[in-house]
Amino acid sequence: MTITRRSFLSASAAFAAAPVLRATAAPLPREADVVVIGAGAAGIAAARRVMAANRKVVVVEAASQIGGRCITDSTTFDAAFDRGARWMHNPDTNPMIRLARSVGLDVSPAPVGQKMRIGRRNARAGETEEFLAALVRANRAIDEASRGKLDTSCASVLPKELGDWAGTAEFLLGANFAGKDLKELSVIDKARAQDRNSAIACKQGLGTLITRLGEQMPVALSTPASRILWSNRDVSVETSAGKIVARAAIITVSTNVLTAGAIKFAPDIPKRTLDAASKLSLGSYDHIVLQLPGNPLGLARDDILIEQSNSTRTAQLFANIGGSSLCSIDVGGSFGRDLSEQGEQAMAAFAREWLTKLFGSEATAGIKKISATRWNASPFVMGAMSASAPGGQLSRKILTEPIGCMYLAGEATHDTLWGTVDGAWESGERAAEAALRRIGALRDEPPELPTQSTKRRQKR
Ligand SMILES: Cc1cc2nc3c(=O)[nH]c(=O)nc-3n(C[C@H](O)[C@H](O)[C@H](O)COP(=O)(O)OP(=O)(O)OC[C@H]3O[C@@H](n4cnc5c(N)ncnc54)[C@H](O)[C@@H]3O)c2cc1C
Repeated sequence: MTITRRSFLSASAAFAAAPVLRATAAPLPREADVVVIGAGAAGIAAARRVMAANRKVVVVEAASQIGGRCITDSTTFDAAFDRGARWMHNPDTNPMIRLARSVGLDVSPAPVGQKMRIGRRNARAGETEEFLAALVRANRAIDEASRGKLDTSCASVLPKELGDWAGTAEFLLGANFAGKDLKELSVIDKARAQDRNSAIACKQGLGTLITRLGEQMPVALSTPASRILWSNRDVSVETSAGKIVARAAIITVSTNVLTAGAIKFAPDIPKRTLDAASKLSLGSYDHIVLQLPGNPLGLARDDILIEQSNSTRTAQLFANIGGSSLCSIDVGGSFGRDLSEQGEQAMAAFAREWLTKLFGSEATAGIKKISATRWNASPFVMGAMSASAPGGQLSRKILTEPIGCMYLAGEATHDTLWGTVDGAWESGERAAEAALRRIGALRDEPPELPTQSTKRRQKR
């Protein structure tokens, strides 16, 4: 069957509207084997793993929808786009790709090529090569520094001779990769990050994918956990809809939500855990999405474009998303943070100014509508992705230590796939396996049929 854009749109709208098993009006279950806090990628992966072991799970989610930082927006424009994550990685080991296909979604490799702009013209081949060489030198310097005794900032080890490309290299390696400037980023964390170059797109959107994978899970939406009473024996999660008692809990909220104290713990969770979370605070990353009919930029479907810049006041353009008239200008790091703090209007003004600088005012005259995400202001996430401060990389391991019968999961707890959906998913499976082992539902030794995540861990 050929899928037209219209049928794709209506299908994705239907997915987004799919009812979760427990509507918010229905009573919250009082008991479960495992309670999961948060229905983002990590929470849904954890819930599926617990269910697969035939144990009772309940997921409580503060927001009114499943997905967390994976949200497909099919209402703002006449084409759908992802407000948060848009690409998966590591096709050989990523279970989400197989799962996406199993629920009838279309996954395919995303564009790998990047176009470079120098002012109003495209970069020449020689200039692009010069830039790539600068990027290799910068990466190599970070890798070498990461093998040293002391963790330090990526900015402090950058080669001096990056020249005209210094700003662009800083943007790509820092703000665009981790949502933070290189001076705030640990060389060890950056060097340990697994390669994310092989990007895989889900045509219907990553938010749609997480929603579909969560469809059969008992998720209580608009039900924030406000207080968690815990011990080595059991855990009691208080919400506005009532209390759930469980034998183990998996907490997947972002590091910023954890350190903001939105969830109270009794007794307090260890200072060691909170210190670790604060060293892994979230960077800033946002999409400023424009409806630009008629392709006035003259770019191909899903083209990615960056500019030569001598500062980090720059962005990445993702053009003609999925063949639609939507283009996303992505901003991040301290520049993106300041801009998003000023609000959507300021973000729209920057997008116009930046595109006009690169393509001329004729190209931007036809902008029909602009909408920008502001993840830092999103109360249940409070940022984009975790990135370690210099000296903080070991914190990721600390976050995986059990706290009584509670386990933390989420992208920040992944040593190499931090900041990704894949990492969040894998962390959810891993936490679920630890919780299942605690309640005696899984043996300590590897099970007869290894799960996807144990298979992947064995491979490394
Ligand atoms: C703009 C942007 C672009 C990105 N692009 C990519 C990309 O292309 N590829 C990629 O791999 N990654 C990308 N990422 C990162 C990726 O989105 C995240 O790493 C991943 O989605 C995190 O999943 P998670 O389950 O760990 O956390 P979350 O998705 O944050 O899930 C945590 C959940 O907990 C809920 N919650 C919070 N407080 C409470 C409470 N008190 N009670 C109950 N529930 C609560 C939240 O509402 C949320 O749903 C991007 C992120 C952003 C913001």
